[in-house]
Amino acid sequence: MRPEVLILGGTTEGYALATALADHPRFAPYSSLAGRTSSPRLPRGDSRIGGFGGAEGLAAWLAQRGTRAVIDATHPFASRMGWNAATACTQLGLPLLRLERPSWCPGPGDCWNQVADWEAAVRCLAQQRAQRVLLALGRQDLAPFAALKAVWFLIRSVEPPEPMPPFTQAEILLARGPFSAEEERALLVGRGIDSIVCKNSGGSATDAKLTVARELGLRVVMRRRPPRPETPTVADVAAALVWLEQTLPG
Ligand code: NAP
Repeated sequence: MRPEVLILGGTTEGYALATALADHPRFAPYSSLAGRTSSPRLPRGDSRIGGFGGAEGLAAWLAQRGTRAVIDATHPFASRMGWNAATACTQLGLPLLRLERPSWCPGPGDCWNQVADWEAAVRCLAQQRAQRVLLALGRQDLAPFAALKAVWFLIRSVEPPEPMPPFTQAEILLARGPFSAEEERALLVGRGIDSIVCKNSGGSATDAKLTVARELGLRVVMRRRPPRPETPTVADVAAALVWLEQTLPG
């Protein structure tokens, strides 16, 4: 039997790794999704949906399945799962790898304010007297922005916010990336947006808004990534496969 590798997924990288391992001669993928969206796409290979019950629950699950290695491919802003994985793997002496897409970095012509949390983002919008703002965040992150009563918000979200925070002026746009530069330009110009608030997710699916913001001279309030445990980290699936070969030699 091929040694089983747990992929903590829910991301483009998690799906890509599961696909790469599904037909791999040496390793078998077992993906785990948190179950946040109502009808998630299932990765190739075996999978499960839902929390494990903290680090202890995860350790018990790993021991019971006889998992041989864990790859944390969760989203850069899904920080709790990474800490749970580090605790459980240390406890069991299991190898753990972090698969994470690189952060976006500001370049010439960008007008970014980088902040540590949403409260700082709200202060930043107030200071820069933003008037028409695109919120490209998770629907669970919206509430602090409702305090800005004089600002008009365009809220872009995959699923409707529930409950909807008490915004005075807002439009909801249900959409799932990737978004092209043409689409982003049409949206930002069409709605008269002057500022964008987003988190530093990285990756190419949603970076077109940043290119267009640079072009149009719009301000970007960018939330930095949260701290993560010290873990070996790679940026792509090919490097994760090399790590597996070296970590679990045949
Ligand atoms: P989180 O804060 O790190 O995790 C919260 C709890 O959700 C964890 O303690 C765990 O519950 C459960 N969980 C998270 N990821 C899981 C997984 N892959 N499999 C099983 N249980 C998981 O994460 P989050 O921000 O709520 O995000 C949840 C999931 O959505 C992640 O898997 C992430 O990759 C995906 N996602 C998140 C974002 C984002 O911006 N946060 C964006 C895109 C996709 P237990 O303690 O009970 O095990």
